[in-house]
Amino acid sequence: MNGVPLTEAGGLVLELVAAINANRAHLSEIDGRIGDGDHGVNMSKGFTRAGATLGASPPPLPQALRTLSDALFEGIGGSMGPLYGSLFSAMAETLDGAKTLNAPLCGRMLRAGYEAVRELGSAELGDKTMLDALAPAADAFDAAQREGKSFADSLDAMAAAAERGRDATRDMVARVGRASRLGERSRGVVDAGASSCCLILQTIATGVKKRLEATTGAAFSGKEEQKAPALASK
Ligand code: ADP
Ligand code: MG
Repeated sequence: MNGVPLTEAGGLVLELVAAINANRAHLSEIDGRIGDGDHGVNMSKGFTRAGATLGASPPPLPQALRTLSDALFEGIGGSMGPLYGSLFSAMAETLDGAKTLNAPLCGRMLRAGYEAVRELGSAELGDKTMLDALAPAADAFDAAQREGKSFADSLDAMAAAAERGRDATRDMVARVGRASRLGERSRGVVDAGASSCCLILQTIATGVKKRLEATTGAAFSGKEEQKAPALASK
């Protein structure tokens, strides 16, 4: 089965912490153009708190996602704590009872995350929020799977769709959240929540693919080593 053991995937959450912290200033800067400029600082506060709780040897992925969710619920005010807290707790719940993150489970995890945010925030597609990155990403993953693409290729399709979704928020007028007060003036700037969501989805795609390669590489190591020189000499 092409998948990643959940016991070996908790580090993915530490990679999310690092990605958010590396983009802290950027996320606050874009929030500042049509919001109050605290998105990066907020996110970094919650993610750093999760990173501190997890330490250097994180638990399996469902528990690590739950730690992240708790830290966001407890550590961040505003709209983002509950919205991202719900996203990660819905993802964790989907993984409960499983041993391996394979493509069908990953698809269900993305869908559950999307539905949790949608239910809590009641935003629609096109309202210029994180959903505008999340929904097309979940759809693209499912579509790639239906087309028979590999798990890794479906993750690439998911990350590319998240990026297109983020960029599409530039031309949208904000209809929910703080930026909606600006009306038409909110057009022309990419949404901060869509940007952090895209970053999170890209980091998940990269982190899962890296672990997939590691498990596949280990399973085929003998054969692959013999093949390599022949390919190189062509
Ligand atoms: P605040 O708006 O409280 O300052 P942040 O700056 O941390 O919170 O986050 C702003 C982001 O929250 C927006 O860019 C938008 O993507 C997202 N957001 C706001 N309201 C909603 C909602 N109802 N549903 C989904 N996302 C939302
Ligand atoms: Mg803000």
